[in-house]
Amino acid sequence: MSPAPAPARVLVLNSGSSSVKYQLLDMRDGERLAMGLVERIGEETSRFKHTCVTTGAVRESTGPIPDHEAALKAVAEELSKDQLGLDSPELAAIGHRVVHGGQTFTAPTVIDDAVLAEIERLIPVAPLHNPANLVGIRTAMALRPDLPQVAVFDTAFHTTMPESAARYAIDVATADAYRIRRYGFHGTSHAYVSRATANLLGRAPEDVNVIVLHLGNGASASAVEKGRCVETSMGLTPLEGLVMGTRSGDLDPAVIFHLMRVGGMSTDEIDTLLNKKSGLIGLCGDNDMREIRRRIDEGDEQAELAFDIYIHRLKKYIGAYCAVLGKVDAVAFTAGVGENASAVREAAVAGLELLGLEVDGALNAVRSDEPRLISPASGRVAVAVVPTDEELEIATQTYALVGNYNA
Ligand code: AMP
Repeated sequence: MSPAPAPARVLVLNSGSSSVKYQLLDMRDGERLAMGLVERIGEETSRFKHTCVTTGAVRESTGPIPDHEAALKAVAEELSKDQLGLDSPELAAIGHRVVHGGQTFTAPTVIDDAVLAEIERLIPVAPLHNPANLVGIRTAMALRPDLPQVAVFDTAFHTTMPESAARYAIDVATADAYRIRRYGFHGTSHAYVSRATANLLGRAPEDVNVIVLHLGNGASASAVEKGRCVETSMGLTPLEGLVMGTRSGDLDPAVIFHLMRVGGMSTDEIDTLLNKKSGLIGLCGDNDMREIRRRIDEGDEQAELAFDIYIHRLKKYIGAYCAVLGKVDAVAFTAGVGENASAVREAAVAGLELLGLEVDGALNAVRSDEPRLISPASGRVAVAVVPTDEELEIATQTYALVGNYNA
């Protein structure tokens, strides 16, 4: 009798404050077997959508799911219905997205009590995300205590940033006492896209310098030198940097004192203003780039100004990162806006010929799910659209770590 094949499936769990996203992947070929989303956890109208890719079954339900524990149990039940349950011997590991790994976690890490304690210790710098991530991990560990569980950190890819980029110019003792520094986020996406861009150019990641523009509802840029991140636009929290769907990005910190002293606003009110009511939605009332483009086509000046502010900031970062890197081989657009909004790509690069950046109109207009070049053959710097795949990256990193563990 031939021996049972080594387990090769990885369940990726992304536990947010009121949601759980998941994907089950077969790491022999990266194929997705099932995926789903539980939303509005803790409300009466929680929503659950589960898709089994192998059978094509889609199951949706609405009804109260009180907490993350109940959500994960529901996920386990749905997977079981498709014979893909957590008890399957083919499951090699569970990979958890963890938003903040501070300076401690520079790579994916098999979770034990010490790791849990450290993720907990980091809650003050990620008060919205790390608690939800922890609940997801603890519940999954209770469901399968024997299975390796791996934390893949959003911040890890950025831990290679030099101190000159990672430190704010504030009093060092204060910064160190409160662990105030630039950590960066979207790290799995920047890692995946910078590698995939090198691939697209037919070169090794260690041979190329890439600027990655992750433009989704949250947005961040990174400068990746020979496969290592040397600068990124998000900081202590995901609020710094580019104009985003609902976040302001860069701001004179004195705006906050002004709102407190003159506007009489509380810390929480300002937090909500800058994280939820700013960016594109604050500027024009919409945070969906499709809607903004539609309004611009109808001559809406407010939408046009919002778009111009978004592009202006993006250009500043592209220029700055060209200066940080010195030599740039490629600029890669990714995430919802970067992958789909040709107008954003065109406007972001317009007028940057001096930096070697150009976009070919016909190539830019092509819609595709594949990584592709949109710069003309004569362009000195490759401009690319490279769809991101954070779940695949988390699964790949998880499997790379536990492959030996299971062998
Ligand atoms: P993400 O956070 O990566 O899922 O990106 C979500 C955002 O992508 C949405 O808020 C939209 O602004 C944008 N988006 C998605 N599809 C399109 C599209 N076809 N054209 C322009 N923007 C899009």
